[in-house]
Amino acid sequence: MIAAGADLIHFDVMDNHYVPNLTVGPLVCEAIKPIATVPIDVHLMVKPVDRIVPDFAKAGARIISFHPEASEHIDRTLALIRDQGCKAGLVFNPATPLAYLDHVIDKVDLVLIMSVNPGFGGQSFIASAIDKIREARRRIDASGRDIWLEVDGGIKAENIASVARAGADTFVAGSAIFGEKDRAAAVRRLREELKKATIET
Ligand code: ZN
Repeated sequence: MIAAGADLIHFDVMDNHYVPNLTVGPLVCEAIKPIATVPIDVHLMVKPVDRIVPDFAKAGARIISFHPEASEHIDRTLALIRDQGCKAGLVFNPATPLAYLDHVIDKVDLVLIMSVNPGFGGQSFIASAIDKIREARRRIDASGRDIWLEVDGGIKAENIASVARAGADTFVAGSAIFGEKDRAAAVRRLREELKKATIET
């Protein structure tokens, strides 16, 4: 993936508790760290959150994001992630209000908008995410802070430009890349579509 031109490795952690699926943990993160010449972007879909944060920081995560519903104390979890030397992200499910940002936006380095419900790859992009991305962009710009706006779920060549036009700057692609035989070509195609969005705006 890195040779194919990925800027980040997005690492989905699912616990069969917060989400109904099970993936990988800190040991796998640690194992890929030596060959990951790009940052590892850990997306925690786990509950509770805090116990596992230091493990991922030690395992080489550069960014750690979590779902506000999965943490009893969101402000504390954000501080914990930053104390571990990582960028801290808040993740919003399709039905999770952006109001969670109201009192913590000064402690957030990344906002991750889910454009599918978390738990499984291969789902289709939920169209209402576009309005939410726009609103998240408005809030980020109003904050004046350097916060990444990432979108996760159903991103593909056909929709990446409209997601970018709504204000996203970071894109998670799973099936759009891993579902193709020529993965480098898949990354190139996503980038070409992205370029169109920047030319048009
Ligand atoms: Zn993810």
